[in-house]
Amino acid sequence: MVAVGYNDGSIVERTSLSTVEPELLVPQIADYLRSTQNSLGPIEALGVGAFGPMVVDRNAINYGSLLQTNKPGWSDFDLASALRSAIGLSPNIVTDVAAAGIAEATLGALSGTELGIYLTVGTGIGGAIICQGKPLPALLHLEIGHIALQRQSADAAPSTCRFHPNCAEGLAAGPAIMARFGQSLSHFPPGSAEHGLIADYLGQLCAKLVLTLSPQRIVLGGGVGKTPGLIAAAHGEMLHHLGGYTPEAVASDQFICAPNLGQDTGIVGSLCLAEPGRPAPAFVIRGA
Ligand SMILES: [Zn+2]
Repeated sequence: MVAVGYNDGSIVERTSLSTVEPELLVPQIADYLRSTQNSLGPIEALGVGAFGPMVVDRNAINYGSLLQTNKPGWSDFDLASALRSAIGLSPNIVTDVAAAGIAEATLGALSGTELGIYLTVGTGIGGAIICQGKPLPALLHLEIGHIALQRQSADAAPSTCRFHPNCAEGLAAGPAIMARFGQSLSHFPPGSAEHGLIADYLGQLCAKLVLTLSPQRIVLGGGVGKTPGLIAAAHGEMLHHLGGYTPEAVASDQFICAPNLGQDTGIVGSLCLAEPGRPAPAFVIRGA
């Protein structure tokens, strides 16, 4: 998705481009942006939400570069330099999850929070810690999904993470659910054992984040996150794992909530990364 708009998150024009190899995609992005300048005027800033793994340390010499990835052609690609050469602007790059978190902090479910967490549970588990509207400075992008959990004793399903036997992503993301149950979680009713298992794992993850960071709210998005009843069940399990060590705000049934901005979170967050008040292109590169 590529869009031109303002850093308040408002979109003026948008288009959708397939995530092909970067040598093909970057010129397509530049061509689209040039085509909009005739009607919209010059573009002055560039915000990007991209898949990882990626270097997000702004002081690193390889800031904005991808690391090893299984997406063809993207391993070690210097996205920041390629965009600077093609478009003539230095991009502000964060992960797609962080862009979604920024959008929710600006216009959605995390607005009004000093510190909030955006979690996405889908084909993997990703997360962003948003402090005063911005992702916390970091070396690499966060790997919240790879935090180890306490596996339920009756759960013998193999982890779907190739790195870890008991991490959140390997136990509770979409592929783990499909491998364990043969179908998505939405095929099972709220209150079922299947819901209970996944809610327990997500509740453990949220409890660890509460104890470490004390966020004012956690947004739980992604395809698995949309399962009816799962957010409430995960909240209940989180409180169980906190064992009574729970401020009133954390006990609120709104403490874990769904995203407000739907499909637009990534692109809105990318626009918010641009300089104040100026037209800015923004785009999100997904791994699809
Ligand atoms: Zn893992």
